[in-house]
Amino acid sequence: MNYDVMIIGAGPGGIFSAYELVQRDPSLRVAVFESGHRLDRRTCPIDGDKVKSCVHCPVCSIMSGFGGAGAFSDGKYNITNDFGGTLHEYIGKQKALELMHYVDEINMRYGGEGTKMYSTAGSDLKKVCMQNDLHLLNASVRHLGTDINYVVLGHLYDFLKDKVTFYFDMPVDTVEAAADGYRIRCAAGEYTGRQCIISVGRSGSKWMERVCHEMGIETQSNRVDIGVRVELPAEIFAHLTDELYESKIVYRTPKYGDRVRTFCMNPRGAVVTENTNGIVTVNGHSYEDPARQTGNTNFALLVAKHFSEPFKDSNGYGESIARLSNMLGGGVMVQRFGDLIRGQRSTPSRIEESFTVPTLNASPGDLSLVLPKRILDGIIEMIYALDKVAPGTANDDTLLYGVEVKFYNMEVAVGPDLQTRYPGLYIIGDGSGITHSLSHASASGVYVARQIAGDAR
Ligand SMILES: Cc1cc2nc3c(=O)[nH]c(=O)nc-3n(C[C@H](O)[C@H](O)[C@H](O)COP(=O)(O)OP(=O)(O)OC[C@H]3O[C@@H](n4cnc5c(N)ncnc54)[C@H](O)[C@@H]3O)c2cc1C
Repeated sequence: MNYDVMIIGAGPGGIFSAYELVQRDPSLRVAVFESGHRLDRRTCPIDGDKVKSCVHCPVCSIMSGFGGAGAFSDGKYNITNDFGGTLHEYIGKQKALELMHYVDEINMRYGGEGTKMYSTAGSDLKKVCMQNDLHLLNASVRHLGTDINYVVLGHLYDFLKDKVTFYFDMPVDTVEAAADGYRIRCAAGEYTGRQCIISVGRSGSKWMERVCHEMGIETQSNRVDIGVRVELPAEIFAHLTDELYESKIVYRTPKYGDRVRTFCMNPRGAVVTENTNGIVTVNGHSYEDPARQTGNTNFALLVAKHFSEPFKDSNGYGESIARLSNMLGGGVMVQRFGDLIRGQRSTPSRIEESFTVPTLNASPGDLSLVLPKRILDGIIEMIYALDKVAPGTANDDTLLYGVEVKFYNMEVAVGPDLQTRYPGLYIIGDGSGITHSLSHASASGVYVARQIAGDAR
């Protein structure tokens, strides 16, 4: 065996697995295989000047490399069982929270010290939301910001690089059971290890599906969240963001009874594009450093779609809608709320006249040609509901970028120890379908590392 533990994927799940393994047993031979680049080599060619939109790099530096999809994220670590994944259903609520706090302590030790922790506990805003038929979910949020998040990752890499063997630019092709462990194949050759942790995140979702199929590991997939990213002057949401930073607000639409929620709120942040397997969607982030902040706040409004038999390909449904928007807008599309309500396309001149200045250079267009009526109706109803707790949300110049799709990895069949039916083969993080966030993915890494550190040899 080349290694005691092989980790596939260097996102938060993989990093925290490696971190905890070397803490618990420094003698373990641990290797991390990652499709993307080292942290300092991760750059996206979009510079807003010569390159304005996605050029479809073979490996997307935003989604892949040391730090995973979280490297350039806003670094919001939500400590809660209310959203961000269902890890607690496997390991218990108390354990999940305990591990999320442990991850927070490590982040503080590696450069995050001094960043702010926000909490909904004791907030009057909960009552104000309820009075308007909106529901604020409970959470504590550590906001590292894109800048500090990067610093923390850099320090974690410095700590790990001499203790763990990293293989960058090394996508793993196959995984198979071998005598006394597992064999993986990459372009550079074969490697073996006694135990294997797979943490390939969202960018590895298709690969994960293939591996599960090849190894006979059961999966199920029936959910996708579709919506838009809203951008408005920061003042409109300041009373919420100043107190809570991120507020997760849920609304049940009267018309269809669908649940619409706010997601990934970025006070004074910027809207960005995201490329998942060649499909360009929208996302957002913000910086802790005031010098890099903007005058706008952005957040997603997502409608959850659950499908029942016989339809199984929920991600395919979301992809088709994203492709339609890419076809019409050449990438991400932007529309003023007022134009959407009046049934007219936003044109470059209408966007230019808008009092809200977009932070992303997207194609002005008409989202009603892209989003299914049920989803669009849900978003419009939620914007009017939010307008009651944050007046100005439904202004004409509120910008809507589309589409934002939250793909859920298919849920992989694992036990309460996050182990597959193969002893010593663990699937964790977003690639397992169990987590959908930085804190849950990281906590799942710590959890399996603690289990295997004792018997990895
Ligand atoms: C722009 C953006 C902003 C976000 N903001 C937040 C936020 O503020 N808060 C929050 O909680 N969450 C946020 N998220 C989500 C968060 O980043 C993820 O939930 C988290 O990174 C999941 O961690 P992971 O380790 O499971 O997977 P990932 O971070 O996706 O890492 C998986 C790694 O595996 C690698 N990989 C994939 N396939 C293979 C293969 N075959 N061989 C080798 N390597 C492979 C990938 O290259 C990747 O580096 C954001 C995501 C994005 C894209």
